[in-house]
Amino acid sequence: MKLVLLFLTLVGLVRAEESNVVEESLTTNKLFKVLRAVPEDLLQLNYLLDIYHDHTKGIKLDFWKAPSAMNTATDIMIQTDDFSTFADTLQRQNITNYVIIDDVAKLMEEREKISVFNKRLSASKRRDTAGSTINEEESYNFQAYGSYPKMQSWMRALSRKHPNLVRYVTIGKTHEGRNIDGLEIGGQNKSKRIFWIDGGIHAREWAASHTTLYFIHQLTSRYGRDPTITRYVDELTFLIIPNLNPDGYTFSRSVFSPSIRLWRKNRSKPSCYVDDWGRRRCCRGVDLNRNFDFHWSEAGSSDDPCSEIYQGTAPFSEPETAAIRNTIFSNEYRGRFDGFVTLHTYSQLLIHPYGHKKEAYPADINELYKVGKKAAQALKAVYGTNYVVGSGADTLYPASGGSEDWAKLKAKIKFVYLMELRPDEKNWDGFILKERELIPTATETWAGIKVIADAIIEYIHVNQISAKKKPLFISLKGRFYDIRDFAKKHPGGAKVLEKVAGSEVDKYMNGTERIMGVKHEHSDAAYHMLESYGVDKTHTTDPYLEKGRPIFWEIGHLGEKYWSWIHQPYDGTLRLFKSDFMEKLTRTSWYMIPGIWMPLVLLFAFMGFHQMIDRYGVQRGGIYSIALFALGSLVWTLLEYVLHKYAFHWEPNPKSHAQITFHFAMHGIHHKTPMDGDRLVFPPTPALFIIAFFYLVYTSILPWHVFCCFGAGKLFGYIAYDCIHYYLHHGQPAVKSNMHYRKVYHHNHHFKDFDVGFGISTNLWDYIFSTEGSGPL
Ligand SMILES: [Zn+2]
Ligand SMILES: [Zn+2]
Ligand SMILES: [Zn+2]
Repeated sequence: MKLVLLFLTLVGLVRAEESNVVEESLTTNKLFKVLRAVPEDLLQLNYLLDIYHDHTKGIKLDFWKAPSAMNTATDIMIQTDDFSTFADTLQRQNITNYVIIDDVAKLMEEREKISVFNKRLSASKRRDTAGSTINEEESYNFQAYGSYPKMQSWMRALSRKHPNLVRYVTIGKTHEGRNIDGLEIGGQNKSKRIFWIDGGIHAREWAASHTTLYFIHQLTSRYGRDPTITRYVDELTFLIIPNLNPDGYTFSRSVFSPSIRLWRKNRSKPSCYVDDWGRRRCCRGVDLNRNFDFHWSEAGSSDDPCSEIYQGTAPFSEPETAAIRNTIFSNEYRGRFDGFVTLHTYSQLLIHPYGHKKEAYPADINELYKVGKKAAQALKAVYGTNYVVGSGADTLYPASGGSEDWAKLKAKIKFVYLMELRPDEKNWDGFILKERELIPTATETWAGIKVIADAIIEYIHVNQISAKKKPLFISLKGRFYDIRDFAKKHPGGAKVLEKVAGSEVDKYMNGTERIMGVKHEHSDAAYHMLESYGVDKTHTTDPYLEKGRPIFWEIGHLGEKYWSWIHQPYDGTLRLFKSDFMEKLTRTSWYMIPGIWMPLVLLFAFMGFHQMIDRYGVQRGGIYSIALFALGSLVWTLLEYVLHKYAFHWEPNPKSHAQITFHFAMHGIHHKTPMDGDRLVFPPTPALFIIAFFYLVYTSILPWHVFCCFGAGKLFGYIAYDCIHYYLHHGQPAVKSNMHYRKVYHHNHHFKDFDVGFGISTNLWDYIFSTEGSGPL
């Protein structure tokens, strides 16, 4: 095998004899053929695999279809000049081979030249004469391949046309400084679950980008008209990035020549190395779909910068792949993805993870396969196009560092697929799809995508994932009802219910008070219907709520269910430990807090005041003491906010028993049993450690007299907070009083939207950090 490589290399050497440096040879005036080779035994397959990984050390070969299995064709583009040499070497291995495209440029000319290369000319001419573009951004020609700027301007126009539905997003910049742009379709709600769709990670796979644009067209033009589309957009946010590799795409359209049209990688700067023959070789570009942090560099990728499947210098070494990672892990989007589909061409495959080796699958493979199979059937139903479903390693060949595998394993997205669009793998025209096939390709693919969207929505509902972010509780005469599933069926509309979420609805239901301008007295049937949504109903079947069952060490087993479980409030109490003594330790009456800590406040306030007066006299000393005391209380409110938002509402890893148990002890139990008065305030024992910690910090940086006033104020702030919190849950403040407002505000944090409204003593910090919750209607 190595001998043949040596031979190939020699051929390369002859070609490069004039110069010692071989730059990548993107000859634009050469002729190219595509040759099909069919390995019939393992030896032949290994031979082809070897040149697939290492070929660039010799003749420039461009694998349209990598070698994958015996008796399966591999398609290789090669310069006509080198053809006979290469065909001879194959012949010598007895590998069956024949030419499938005699002149690639001619094929391109027949299929693409008129539209891409001439149209661009005529478009620029038109612009010159007309002086302006006559609103042509408003429409997109789906019968032809558009330029990247054309895609951008069309998407911009859509975001202007549907400002409440569509948002234009830029996820990052490419190596050459282009923006990687896309659309977020789904409205303003920042807690909706997301379906990610991308295309064009490989430059030459033009139909992939085109197809994602068609999805955008479907979603935006049919929202509000087609009930299915309307449901998709109401339930999900679609984040669609049509072209992940705009540098490569633009390059592949720049010159009418096969070696450029069929560019696959990005356009990152040339990497050079010295080959076995002492020549310096420099080649540009990284295969972005080998650059993700998933078994990077292990299989089906190359460390040769001249290879079509060059993996890059490290995972995420490329700005394009880093942009994807950063977007998926950003504060705005992190943890919200349930679907990830990446489009490629060609082979007609619907691929699920994993791809780095054969027979490697995620744990939920049966579910992924079932949905994939159903999607392929729906796709076939449109024009009869056959898709094969399976993992990349099983259906094609093992390849590591791919985006889809990374999305599944590292980003933990539920439904992940890679689609290789038309034509099928037996077809010889591969990447150069006839333009008249564009719309049919997009249409049938959309049918498959819809099946995946349905699966995502069902998954969200069954697992109450949307509930995780948005509970919808109401109370009627003190009983709780979880009406999330009912809201859509509510005859008066879901909007009203969202408005009253978290509050007592008696006065609205019996029609004594207006809601959104309407008074409506509900029927007995309505009350009856509400009965079935009572949360105590679900509580009767919840083993964790069995009376007297100690659950503290079991909570960790809730895993994925933990987060929604704690946000289903239970109006009773829970037993944590078996031992009565331990159980007693977990309970603290609210008056313990002022009882224990108030003497300390008085002591320090007195000491501080005394010293201040000694130093500055009665008037100034008095003012200083009071100011420092107030500052201490204010600093407490900030600490209260930070603790509640970041520590108490930190989401534990559902796989970690310890993290869940810790979160439960810290705040989970309060959200599960908000009415349990003995588990509401912070127990004095752990508080002692925290207070001692701050004591050490402050006394080391503040003079004693300053600390005494400030510390007393801060501790006072803490006591006030715990007492106020207790009062908000158990007191009955007069309607319209400030405390009543605070009570509603805090209950809305519990029952309406626990991602906002963290302030208990004050909402000052909620306003400053824009996490305001809502008060009374
Ligand atoms: Zn691809
Ligand atoms: Zn909370
Ligand atoms: Zn509370």
